[in-house]
Amino acid sequence: MKYSDLTRRIAGEGSDAWQVHDDAVERMGRGDDIILLSIGDPDFETPAAIRQAANAALAGGRTHYSPIGGEPALRQAIAAESSRTLGAAIDPGQVTVFPGAQAALFGVAQCLFNPGDEVIVAEPTYVTYEAVLGTPGARMVQVPLRPEDNFELNPDALARAITPKTRGIILNFPHNPTGACLTAAQANAVAALCRKHDLWLVSDEVYSALYYTGKHHESPLSLPGMQERGILISSLSKSHAMTGWRCGWAVTPPALAGHLSNLARAMYFGVAQFIQDAAAVAITSGGAELEAIRSSYERRARVMIEGLSGLEGIKARMPDAGMYIFADIRGTGLDGKQFARGLLDTTGVSVTPGEGFGPSGAGHVRITLGTADSRLREACARITRYAAVIVARK
Ligand code: PMP
Repeated sequence: MKYSDLTRRIAGEGSDAWQVHDDAVERMGRGDDIILLSIGDPDFETPAAIRQAANAALAGGRTHYSPIGGEPALRQAIAAESSRTLGAAIDPGQVTVFPGAQAALFGVAQCLFNPGDEVIVAEPTYVTYEAVLGTPGARMVQVPLRPEDNFELNPDALARAITPKTRGIILNFPHNPTGACLTAAQANAVAALCRKHDLWLVSDEVYSALYYTGKHHESPLSLPGMQERGILISSLSKSHAMTGWRCGWAVTPPALAGHLSNLARAMYFGVAQFIQDAAAVAITSGGAELEAIRSSYERRARVMIEGLSGLEGIKARMPDAGMYIFADIRGTGLDGKQFARGLLDTTGVSVTPGEGFGPSGAGHVRITLGTADSRLREACARITRYAAVIVARK
C-alpha cells in the first residue's frame, strides 16, 4: 500500500545522535545502573493542589467534550497571565488550548505556512521543529547560534537569512538546549525585522518560568506592532512538572485563533475537561509550588556546575534559564557523539550529543536536570572518571 508524501517529511528525528538515549533506556530496562540525563522530563511530581483539582473535576463528572478552543476559565486564566507577561491586553478569544505546546506548534505551522515557504529557526534547534515545518511542506532555514557568543542570537545573521520566500520565524527562548535568553536589544531587532519584512513570529516560550541568574528573556511579542503577527506558544509541562498531562496553548491574533479552532475540530476536538480544570488551578494558584520547582532546578544546576568545574577538557556554565546544561566538551578532543557514546558505554551516564540539535551544537552535550541531586552528584563522579581517562589518552 502507498503512503502520502507527508510521511517522508515527518520521519526525521533530528539525527542518529538520539541513539545514545534509546540505548540507555533499553539498558535500564535490562536492569543496568543508568543515570538518564538525556530526556526533558522532570522527576518532580505535579504539585498536589493541581492533582487534587483534577481528582475533584473527575469526581464532579467533568469528562465530556469541551469547547474546541478551550474551557472559558482556562482561556481566561491564560489570557490574564499572558497580558501580564507581555504587557498587552490579551483577550481570552485569542487563546487556543492544545494538548501540549507541541500540538500548538504543529497547529500554528499548519495554519501559517504553505509548501515552499521559508521559515527561519535558530540552530541548535529543538528537534521537532523540522517535522513541524515539514508537515505543511515549508522549508526550515537555520541561523546558527554560536558557542563563542554564548549561543545568543545574532540579529544580523537573522536578517541575512531573510529572502522573498521567508514567511516567518520560529524562536525558542529561553532556549533548549543552551539556556540562552533574548536581550531587549535582540528582541527589538527581531521585532523590527518581522515588521519590515511582514513576517510571522512564533515564540516558543515553554521555559519562561525557569530563570536562575537574574537574566530574563525579553519577549519580542511584547513590542509594538507584534500583536498582529506574533504567536506565543507555552505550556505547563516544564514550569509545573506536567509533561504527561498534555496541556499547552497558543496566544494569537483573533483570526488565527478561529483557524486553529477549525484545525482542532478536525484533529482532536478539544482537550479533556478535567485536565483543563486542573490547568486553570495551576495557572491561577502559581506561587509557592512553582518556586519550589524552579529553585530545585537552580540547585541541581549548581550541583552539576560545581561537579564539572575544573575538569580538564570540559567547560560548563550556569544556564540563564531552562532545565539543561549545555556543556562544551571540545577540549577532550572528542565530538559530542563520541563523548556521549563513550560515557554511556563505560559509566552508564546518558547525555545527549549536541550534534542532535544542529551543527552549532557540535562538541557539546546536553545534560538534563530532571534527576535528584544525589544522582547528579554520582553522574559528576562518573563523568570525572571518564574525562580523566580520555584526557590521559589524548
Ligand atoms: N518546545 C520546546 C522548546 C520544548 O523543549 C518542548 C518539550 N521538550 C516543547 C516545546 C513541547 O512541550 P509540551 O510538553 O508542552 O508539548
